[in-house]
Amino acid sequence: MTIRLPSELVAAGLVPPEKLADLARVAQRYAVAITPEIAGLIDRGDPHDPIARQFVPDIAELTAAPEERADPIGDDAHSPVGGIVHRYPDRVLLKLVNVCAVYCRFCFRREMVGPGAEPLTAQQLDAALDYVAAHPEIWEVILTGGDPLVLSPRRIKAVMSRLAAIDHVKIVRVHSRVPVAEPSRITPALVRALKIKGKATYVVLHANHARELTDAAREACDRFIDAGIPMLSQSVLLAGVNDDPQALGALMRTLVECRIKPYYLHHGDLAPGTSHLRTSIAHGQELMRALRGRFSGLCQPEYVLDIPGGHGKSPIGPGYLSPDGAGGWRVQDFNGETHCYPPKT
Ligand code: SF4
Repeated sequence: MTIRLPSELVAAGLVPPEKLADLARVAQRYAVAITPEIAGLIDRGDPHDPIARQFVPDIAELTAAPEERADPIGDDAHSPVGGIVHRYPDRVLLKLVNVCAVYCRFCFRREMVGPGAEPLTAQQLDAALDYVAAHPEIWEVILTGGDPLVLSPRRIKAVMSRLAAIDHVKIVRVHSRVPVAEPSRITPALVRALKIKGKATYVVLHANHARELTDAAREACDRFIDAGIPMLSQSVLLAGVNDDPQALGALMRTLVECRIKPYYLHHGDLAPGTSHLRTSIAHGQELMRALRGRFSGLCQPEYVLDIPGGHGKSPIGPGYLSPDGAGGWRVQDFNGETHCYPPKT
């Protein structure tokens, strides 16, 4: 059964009883859910377990840093109708639900998601789909939330069928943590529901540590990929979880071995009470340098920052190229050595 209460965290041996009162305060503020699959990955003997750090609440969450904000990536500023975020010209987010299979302690939408957070009503869904239909520049619809794959195949099929009827939408991208958090939900019926004629569906897996790719998670991903649904990944750079070259490289290699192309490495958003899980951007750039050359090109995600205030994502990886002042360039190799590249004649 999914762990949702602080007392259940204690009973499962995930936190000592003396922390119960503190964690009850955290759980009152931010949702908690740890599926049996995720609980089973946590090493109870390791006080620094990278899976526990992502899902077991911590009293540090009640300390908000001054720079943190309730809507760190500025969804609200770009929401013309309920459930839609239209930040970039050719794509929109469609937030169908505000619940997830698990609640990540660093969640960028932690003020919006949780049990009791209402899904889109039928009228709101109609208005959201009408908005997509009325904007021919929308080429891609990204189903997100919460986690859209907590919905039943029947409800997903209903949304996909309506998207299928909108000619200018060519791509449906689904962001989900369910393949690792609750792989049994990825049934053949769910996979069929995501496939619609005339559109390409992509699934983007959120995973932050190689251990999340269990045998069951790999089988769930295989079901998508074998059905012709390509998979990409997004990971969040997290202190004590994946912020060293070995852990980050192992995650990227594991994803590639599962036929999942690493797509984004997100710098941690300024969500309230998450500063203990954020790294510096300088450290993130060092890690990206460490990946470059030492791990296959297939294992290189793009390191990105969602600019606070809703200004969108920008790549923030290290730069390798600088002008030499004479029309040419200086370029650094993966060992840190600098080479000249001549100007164009
Ligand atoms: S799965 Fe995504 S939306 Fe849900 S808690 Fe984790 S980061 Fe937040």
